[in-house]
Amino acid sequence: MKPEDFPDEIRPFIIPEHKGNLVYRCLGCGREYGIEKLLYTCPDCNKVLLLHDLNFDRLKRIPGEKWQRIFDYRRMTKIPALKGIYRYHEFIGPVIPLSSVVYLGEGHTPLIEANSLLQEKAGLRFFFKNDGQNPSASFKDRGMASALSYINYLVKEKLVSDVLAICASTGDTSASAALYASYLQPHIKSAVILPHKKVTPQQLSQPLGSGASVFEIPGVFDDCMKVVESLSEKYNVALLNSKNAWRILGQESYSYEIAQDFEYDMNNKAIFIPIGNAGNITAVLNGFIKFYETGIIAVLPKIIGVQSEHANPVFNYYSEPNAKKRKFVPVNVKPSVAQAAMIGNPVSMPRVIHLVDTYNRLAGKENVFFVEVKEQSIMDWQITANRNGHIACTHGGECLAGLAVAVTSGLVSLKETAVLDSTAHALKFSGFQEMYFENTFPAGYEVLPDKSLINFPILIHPEGLDKVPAPGKPLAGNDFNIFVKRVSDEIAGLLDLKKR
Ligand SMILES: *Cc1c(COP(=O)(O)O)cnc(C)c1O
Ligand SMILES: [Zn+2]
Repeated sequence: MKPEDFPDEIRPFIIPEHKGNLVYRCLGCGREYGIEKLLYTCPDCNKVLLLHDLNFDRLKRIPGEKWQRIFDYRRMTKIPALKGIYRYHEFIGPVIPLSSVVYLGEGHTPLIEANSLLQEKAGLRFFFKNDGQNPSASFKDRGMASALSYINYLVKEKLVSDVLAICASTGDTSASAALYASYLQPHIKSAVILPHKKVTPQQLSQPLGSGASVFEIPGVFDDCMKVVESLSEKYNVALLNSKNAWRILGQESYSYEIAQDFEYDMNNKAIFIPIGNAGNITAVLNGFIKFYETGIIAVLPKIIGVQSEHANPVFNYYSEPNAKKRKFVPVNVKPSVAQAAMIGNPVSMPRVIHLVDTYNRLAGKENVFFVEVKEQSIMDWQITANRNGHIACTHGGECLAGLAVAVTSGLVSLKETAVLDSTAHALKFSGFQEMYFENTFPAGYEVLPDKSLINFPILIHPEGLDKVPAPGKPLAGNDFNIFVKRVSDEIAGLLDLKKR
């Protein structure tokens, strides 16, 4: 729809103005810092930061219902900068001019309701939100679009030049960072640091294909994170991990989209999020809080964070019911099929603690919960979901395993509807599916296949049939007819087909 065709009361709001007054705010000492510089931790006390709009209250002057209409109409515009996460510009990056927005097709991923068979198995009505349908096939593109739009803005304002963007990754951050940085050639180059042999071949191919410098080091993600932290403290590089608060802002779009897709009715909704470095759950909490404070949603949905038993520091922290006695202890991770969440010392833990408090206080009750799941259950559920029309990654399977736990333990009730985050595309983690089908999981994973879920290709080469086609050597005439008949007869036999 063209701007002139919008209703009079909406038209002035379709193209967002860049106003707002963003500052970094320290979660430790509360100090605030301007955004002209890239900052990741408080220069004073070294704690993590969140971006805060000092003029946020101006957004409350527009009634929630009007915001709903603005977003619904904005959905109809053809302006590229407003097609992705910046549909919610005022909430995500109000200081970023549309001319600096980097849009590669991220956001607005489909919400797919599970079929009745799968809902029956899980015990509750639920949807997958397929964040694997982002450009680099994971939700990380939401935060990367935000971080790189901001850097693009700094470049255009000549506040920085020749940026080297750097990140540690369990696979998907580097894929996303390399993709977005490559779009901003020649101003931005990227380097990624990965734990050797701890990312899937697909994830490794992504930053290589985007032309990033790729470094593999011994250890796990937490070790890579220490290396990039050290680099970003000593050298002039732009850190793209979710320690970078711009990443969090962009990932808030996930909550805004869920709200919009349910017509802003968050009654009886339970949102399941897998937790690794805890950037995603931070963003989801913050997003719903902002929509709640501006009256765009009337209730805060229930949030359920899910972790594997093999990487469960956040679950452990909250398993102590007495808030005063809680103490954060990093864990040594064990092998996990939810590989992108295999993190023992999440950088965003202070943000989570802060936001869970705020969220529960605003909700007037305990409204954020944490569950842990078995590796076995993650794989069983992922494969079961995908046998019912989904494209869930292992982390999507983790969410579904978490839903099953939440149903059994009474954390959710039958009147609720769940939304599960399939954070990446199934294809990125097809190696785990293969190990499941071939029963070749190394013992550390503690996964054995359920026989009824195993699937293999069957090679059809009828006995004694020696004339078969090959590339560049087609069969013709009677040989070809014999080939087609023998092969189709054998397939019909295996499938037990009835003659017509
Ligand atoms: C990064 C990632 C996660 C974990 O998200 P955090 O923000 O680190 O908690 C989960 N799933 C996938 C596919 C990821 O790439
Ligand atoms: Zn501080």
